[in-house]
Amino acid sequence: MMISVVVPFLNEEENLPVLYECLAKMFEGRNETAEFLFVDDGSTDGSVACLETVRAADPRIRLLQLSRNFGHQAAITAGLDQAAGDAVVIMDADLQDPPEVIPDLLAKWHEGFEVVYAVRRKRKGEGFLKKMLAACFYRLFRTLCSVRVPVDAGDFRLLDRKVVDALKTMRERHRYMRGMTSWVGFRQCAVEYDRAARRAGKTKYPVWKSLRLAWDGITSFSAKPLQWMMSMGLCIAVVSAVLAVRIIVLRLAGASDMVTGWASLMVLILFLGGVQLAGIGLLGQYISRIFDESKKRPLYVLRANPPDQEDEGSPA
Ligand code: UDP
Ligand code: MG
Repeated sequence: MMISVVVPFLNEEENLPVLYECLAKMFEGRNETAEFLFVDDGSTDGSVACLETVRAADPRIRLLQLSRNFGHQAAITAGLDQAAGDAVVIMDADLQDPPEVIPDLLAKWHEGFEVVYAVRRKRKGEGFLKKMLAACFYRLFRTLCSVRVPVDAGDFRLLDRKVVDALKTMRERHRYMRGMTSWVGFRQCAVEYDRAARRAGKTKYPVWKSLRLAWDGITSFSAKPLQWMMSMGLCIAVVSAVLAVRIIVLRLAGASDMVTGWASLMVLILFLGGVQLAGIGLLGQYISRIFDESKKRPLYVLRANPPDQEDEGSPA
C-alpha cells in the first residue's frame, strides 16, 4: 500500500530538510511505501533548490511547482490531484503538524476510517488573537452551516483514496478544504495531538488571511447571513409600522409636540442607511462568488507538467 504525504509550502527553506528527515524516519520499517509530494506555492527563497538536493538522493520525493502563489488551499488541491497513494496525508511544512502523529492516523485508517483528522489539543507559539478568533470561528461555523466541521482541526489529516477522488470532482473556486472533507461524508474520526510552535520562519497566515479563509468557509457553506439580513429588514419594518401607528394615535389625540425628535430621526436614518449598505455589500459578496465561479478558470497553474506523469496522469 502506498501513502502520499502532501506538503504545501511557501518559503520554508529552513524547515523542509528537517521535515523530510522526520518523514523519512517515520516511514522506516513500516509496511507501507511512501511518496512525499511537496507542492511549491510560488516560493521565492531557496526552498526549491534545497528540495532538489534531497530529491537526488531519494526518489520518493516529488516536487510540484505552481506558477505563482495561489494560496494554501489551492496548493493542497494541486497535491491531491497529483497524489497517487491509497491514502493521502496533508500536512504543513513548518513542523507544526508533527510527523510522529502519522502512525496514529494510519492506525485509524487501517481500522477502516476513511477520514482521520488531527485535532489540536493545545496550540503553542501562536498569538492570543489568532487562537481566540479561531475558537470563535469554529463555533460560529457550526451555528451557520449544516456541514459538521470538527472544532479545532486544521488541514492536518489523512484521506482515503475514495475521499480524495470525491474531492477531486469538487472544483469550486473559494475552497475551504476542511468544510469540503466534512461535506463528502464517509467514516470520519479524530486523533488528538499537541500542536507545536512553528520550527523556523514566520507564519504565512497573518490574522487578515485567516479572516479571509474564515469568510470563504462561511460563504461557501451557508446562505444564512442572507437570511439573517432579510429577517433584520423585516424586524425593522415591523418596528417602524408600530411607530407609525403610535404617531397617528398621538396626532388624533391632539398632541402638538410632533417636531421634537431630531436626534432620534438622525439615528434612525443613519442606522437604516448603514443596514441597507451592509445588506447590499453582503449580497455583493455572494454575487462576486458567482462571478468567480462563472469564469471557470483553473484553480492553479503548474510551472511544468510533473515529470512522473507517465503513471496515468490525473487532471491538472
Ligand atoms: N502556505 C502555502 N501558501 C500560502 C501560505 C502558506 O503553501 O500562501 C503553507 C506554509 O508554507 C505552511 C502551511 O501552508 O506549510 C501553513 O502555513 P503557516 O504555517 O504559515 O500557517 P499557520 O500555521 O501559522 O496558521
Ligand atoms: Mg504553521
